[in-house]
Amino acid sequence: MIDFTWTEEHKAVFKLVQDFGKKEIIPFIRERDRKEQFDPSILKKLGEADILGICIPSQYGGAGLDYISLGIACQELEYADTSLRVILSVHIGLASLAYLTWGNEAQKQKYLVPQAKGEKIGSFGLTEPNAGSDVVGIQATADKKEGFYVLNGEKMWISLADVADNFLCFAWTDRKKRDKRDHTGLSAFIVERTFKGVKTGTIHGKLGVRAGNTGYISLSDVEVPQENMLGQESEGFKIAMFCLDQGRYTVAAGATGLTKACLDASVNYSKTRKTFNTFIGEHQLVKEMIAFMVSGFEASQLLWLRAGWLKNQGLPNSKETALAKWFACDAAEKAAADAVQVFGSYGFSDEYPVERFYRNSKGSSIYEGTREIQKLLQADYALGYKVDKGTRCPLPKYQPGL
Ligand SMILES: Cc1cc2nc3c(=O)[nH]c(=O)nc-3n(C[C@H](O)[C@H](O)[C@H](O)COP(=O)(O)OP(=O)(O)OC[C@H]3O[C@@H](n4cnc5c(N)ncnc54)[C@H](O)[C@@H]3O)c2cc1C
Repeated sequence: MIDFTWTEEHKAVFKLVQDFGKKEIIPFIRERDRKEQFDPSILKKLGEADILGICIPSQYGGAGLDYISLGIACQELEYADTSLRVILSVHIGLASLAYLTWGNEAQKQKYLVPQAKGEKIGSFGLTEPNAGSDVVGIQATADKKEGFYVLNGEKMWISLADVADNFLCFAWTDRKKRDKRDHTGLSAFIVERTFKGVKTGTIHGKLGVRAGNTGYISLSDVEVPQENMLGQESEGFKIAMFCLDQGRYTVAAGATGLTKACLDASVNYSKTRKTFNTFIGEHQLVKEMIAFMVSGFEASQLLWLRAGWLKNQGLPNSKETALAKWFACDAAEKAAADAVQVFGSYGFSDEYPVERFYRNSKGSSIYEGTREIQKLLQADYALGYKVDKGTRCPLPKYQPGL
């Protein structure tokens, strides 16, 4: 039976992350966002609060909590600012959970443990200048030599590119398959920033997530030891899709937090701003916008909780996770646009946070599978064109005490 009642542990996570946001983020975020400034000290603080390894088993240096706790942390971090949730999406969702699931014991000890403890930061390099949604359109190559692979390619729009210590990068180990667009020619590699030939940079002038770091990775004749291949040769595409299943979950939960932030801000403002001799909250058309924020928040939360529950049980959840991601991101975009509307001209300036919410809301309908890709997925599941066959390495179910 599905029970979405939060345990005492869940409530404690909520309080911990909420307090973190109130103390460490909300008072400073406007300035950081204005200056497009990523604050690296946040990573240290998130690590000290055990948030960077929240759902990684304690035997691998994490806090040993369940996947719902990860969702709660994402929701509350994005309530403060989207850039914070993005950290968990890439560090845990796209990197650490991949190492936990697909890594061998040596890789777990070398890469997962320091990431779970917050001593090292993980990132994910799939997108390239000419290929995002079209994963098999990427061009990066990994040529096999004696004991290592030589990686060449350009990765673009990579969160934490200029900050992370390790990157999970995808490249073709079989060029003939690249030409035929056969995804079994793709493989996944753990690339350390310190490897010769790795260069990164930051993208400036972004619409949103300005307090976050987004950039590029350039791989030029990078010698990656054979033991840094994650999974087996040819499993790169499956690993990338696995990563997106976890990343989308974090994005869904985060977008839910953004909707809640829009709701709270709009409710407060509607009870203080007067027009036509009455509070704007009394006007039915304003109420309608607030009502949509309520329905968006509640439905989004139920959808990501369902996905989290399935993850906890070790059950397939790609369809449910993708649905949660699509719905929650659309709801957040609408909530943010309406929040600006509720604030009138004040919503048009950064005196209030809703303009930042509006700019930040757009990204989540693009990254980790655009809105259009999510729609196609849901239609294909419904039509029977897409059926999940499972993978060699499913996400480990939550085991209390581990
Ligand atoms: C802030 C931010 C952070 C990011 N972080 C990362 C990261 O950490 N790691 C990483 O690897 N990537 C990251 N990305 C990249 C992101 O995942 C891609 O931008 C995304 O997958 C979309 O790819 P694209 O930008 O190349 O758009 P395209 O794939 O070129 O799509 C362009 C448009 O065409 C539509 N479209 C494409 N194909 C179809 C189709 N078959 N049917 C209908 N419509 C279609 C899309 O929905 C979109 O509207 C990030 C992006 C942003 C903005």
